[in-house]
Amino acid sequence: MVGSLSPLNRLPTRANLTCRGVTIPSSVCLFCGLDEESQLHCFLSCSIIKIIWRKLWSWWRSPLLYNPSLVDILKEKSGFIENKSVENLFHAVCMTFMWHVWKWRNKILHASSDAEAIAIRHEDFPSAQRLSLLWAYNRSSKKVIVSWKNWILNPGELASSSSPWFFLVLGVLYFGVSLSGALS
Ligand SMILES: [Zn+2]
Repeated sequence: MVGSLSPLNRLPTRANLTCRGVTIPSSVCLFCGLDEESQLHCFLSCSIIKIIWRKLWSWWRSPLLYNPSLVDILKEKSGFIENKSVENLFHAVCMTFMWHVWKWRNKILHASSDAEAIAIRHEDFPSAQRLSLLWAYNRSSKKVIVSWKNWILNPGELASSSSPWFFLVLGVLYFGVSLSGALS
């Protein structure tokens, strides 16, 4: 599985473009406008993105001081989930969230005006939760119907039930491979 930052290194973050000699008007992060937009900053350390990660970790009842690196997130081992199926599902949700961040970032980049860019810059955690549920459902072999309420209250329960979640491993692999190519 993906155990390094290599898939992210191919993404055209502003820092990557600058490194490749591409002239761009600014290399500053589109979310906070404060630091250079490296992959680490864009996907994890940006103050706006970190707020949403903390919500995601809290949603999955991680330990209070849980604070993984980007490489840790790309691995399949969270360190706080024992059930393998739940671990797979959690990892899939994290990958979906990264997908969400990149799509969101591109939406800001291609906004038609500064006013529109500012309007869509606000944090929207529920839409990341919706996307992860949709993604998980579409990759379930039994198409188990999951209520929004259950997904929010206890997402891990979905994987620890009798539903076959092994497919998620393949789904995550597909996502990792396609991340750099599909999102631009
Ligand atoms: Zn930022």
